[in-house]
Amino acid sequence: MKIAALDLKKQIAPIRRELDAAIKEVIDNTSFILGAGVDKFERQVVAYSGAKYAIGVSNGTDAISLALLALGIKAGDGVICPAFTYYATAGAIAAIGARPVFADIGRDTYNISLENVEKILSRKNKLKIKAIIPVHLYGMCADMDGILKLARKYKIKVVEDTAQAFGAEYKGKKAGTLGDCGTVSFYPGKNIGAFGDAGLILTNNKGMAEKLKILRNQGNKNKYYHLVLGRNNRMDSIQAVVLDIKLKYLDEWNKGRQEVAQYYNRNLEGLNIKLPFVPSYTTHIYHQYTLRAFKSNKKIIDYLQEKGIDSRVFYPVPLHLQKCFKYLGYKTGDFPEAESAAKQAFTLPIYPELTGEEKDYIIQSLKEFK
Ligand SMILES: *Cc1c(COP(=O)(O)O)cnc(C)c1O
Repeated sequence: MKIAALDLKKQIAPIRRELDAAIKEVIDNTSFILGAGVDKFERQVVAYSGAKYAIGVSNGTDAISLALLALGIKAGDGVICPAFTYYATAGAIAAIGARPVFADIGRDTYNISLENVEKILSRKNKLKIKAIIPVHLYGMCADMDGILKLARKYKIKVVEDTAQAFGAEYKGKKAGTLGDCGTVSFYPGKNIGAFGDAGLILTNNKGMAEKLKILRNQGNKNKYYHLVLGRNNRMDSIQAVVLDIKLKYLDEWNKGRQEVAQYYNRNLEGLNIKLPFVPSYTTHIYHQYTLRAFKSNKKIIDYLQEKGIDSRVFYPVPLHLQKCFKYLGYKTGDFPEAESAAKQAFTLPIYPELTGEEKDYIIQSLKEFK
């Protein structure tokens, strides 16, 4: 049996007519960038998330860079982020000339370690740390109360990288609405994906929202009068109308993922692998269902791939050991939990459309693994 890591065809098929009609309307109206479609989607996101403002942008990476710029982060400033996340979290920091300062993760949550963050912040160093970017990795929130407390103590800003967790909740509030800004990615493979690149920034601060709208659009409020050095980071109308339709189904889809996760949890208990751990402060929307082999993930991934099951490792190389960040001066051993997660974590396919037969095949295959 062949089971893909994700099957977007199955997600799109039932809503295809709705999507086609909305895209056709954009083409008929020839309004392709920002405009009414993006305005409407932003309003829907405000209603959905409870954030006061939503600013549609070009992608999740630019969303992070823009949020940092709007918060006044400048070239040379230090910004803390986990050593174990997708490249873009740190790439977006470096893209504005700021310096990624890595922190280790917690062994059970895969999210940033408060102890390690406090250790970094309390050092009298020259890193000029001005902000922290917790990542809600795999679809589960980081310990936001702890992070916000540290941020107040050390007077730094908080940008929540919510690329993988849009729709997850921290103590009843939507991920991305707790820090100064929350950034979302609508990369096609995310739980809610566009038909191309798109992203969004959430904030409760009016001044911040106004700055972000100017920054995303070449630094102008009125065309050809440029107030600040902005960027071309606007959202396309076609992406906005697609996302507006998909947003209606997001909770249902996330619930479907949770049901698959519960089924896996029930049936994989007792095997020689560590199941996902979900702290009581957060819900988990299972962007990834991540298991952990006690030694190495290599054999088990190869085995699952041979069985036709598209298992992956997110992420095989922690950021402090990536070639592109060599200039930061980190070395092997600096973040043991990030390094160990990279060696041991592996995923199973997870999406609401997985059939009972597919799930049971995956479970049976894992049970037969030696
Ligand atoms: C996907 C992702 C991003 C980047 O989003 P893009 O829309 O692909 O630019 C940033 N951070 C994390 C954790 C992601 O998973």
